[in-house]
Amino acid sequence: MFELSRLVVIVAVWALVLWVKVVVAQRGPGFEIDFDAVEIRTQHVAGRVHMVAAEGGNIGVLAGEDGLLLVDDQFAQLTDGLRRSIAEISPEPIRFIINTHFHNDHTSGNENFAAAGATIVAHENVRRVLSAPHFMETVNTEFAAFPDSALPVVTFEDSITFHLNGEEVEVFHAPTAHTDGDAIIYFHDSEVIHIGDIFRARGPVYDFNNGGSYQGVIRAMDSVLLRIGETTKIIPGHGRIASRSDLQRARDSMVTVRERVVEAIAEGKTLEQVIAAQPTDGFGWEMPRLLSIEKITEWIFLELSASSSNVANE
Ligand SMILES: [Zn+2]
Repeated sequence: MFELSRLVVIVAVWALVLWVKVVVAQRGPGFEIDFDAVEIRTQHVAGRVHMVAAEGGNIGVLAGEDGLLLVDDQFAQLTDGLRRSIAEISPEPIRFIINTHFHNDHTSGNENFAAAGATIVAHENVRRVLSAPHFMETVNTEFAAFPDSALPVVTFEDSITFHLNGEEVEVFHAPTAHTDGDAIIYFHDSEVIHIGDIFRARGPVYDFNNGGSYQGVIRAMDSVLLRIGETTKIIPGHGRIASRSDLQRARDSMVTVRERVVEAIAEGKTLEQVIAAQPTDGFGWEMPRLLSIEKITEWIFLELSASSSNVANE
């Protein structure tokens, strides 16, 4: 009996090792994407800033004769197509790429673009996460460490400013928002702001297990609302170009949901009761594949339960 159970343990360990090897080797998301079918669309946003949309995070492009500055670079499989589309905006070389956060649909092109001469810039926590194997719960996938050549070579803690093509480009950190390494990129002269995945029209998505936080997303939105004007264009991580009022609406809905959950916690409701009460109802929230309203509600509940004494001061 003892020998048999030892055999079972050995087989189980081997199976685990093989599984980990297969999963860690994977560089794509936890679901299939047909990259050949992806359509790449470019759009002028305002002033010197353009947007390139495809399958991953929206790319911001600052164009001009000093060379290009990009915000995010999507999936490595799309690099050639992206390069062709970006060349139609401007033939100048791509000099800088700023990663809004570490998620692979925003950073997988780093290696290719860096090899072609771009300097990758990100918050210091993006470099920390990408330097080691990392897990993304939002796509249920373990990713291998990025090679050194794909890591940000310039990192910052609070902010960094670029002066390029007559534009002042302010890059600032939003602590514990969508992840723990978020950067927001504000093109002051063109009046465009790239907010990364902090704003999403159909409800907030954040990486709870990589330093993301519901309250941090609200704080980040507040800091953007304080800075921008009524006519400022917002490039979100995914989806259409948004306005200040779109952001205000999303922020207000999150605050209302927070009030509902805080109230339920104060009444001593359990997680199951809070999920059943559907506190996110009424705002048209829809979660992407592999996430759910129940999961997001659970994360909100856990965070607010842990910090309910601080909430009154938010
Ligand atoms: Zn993301």
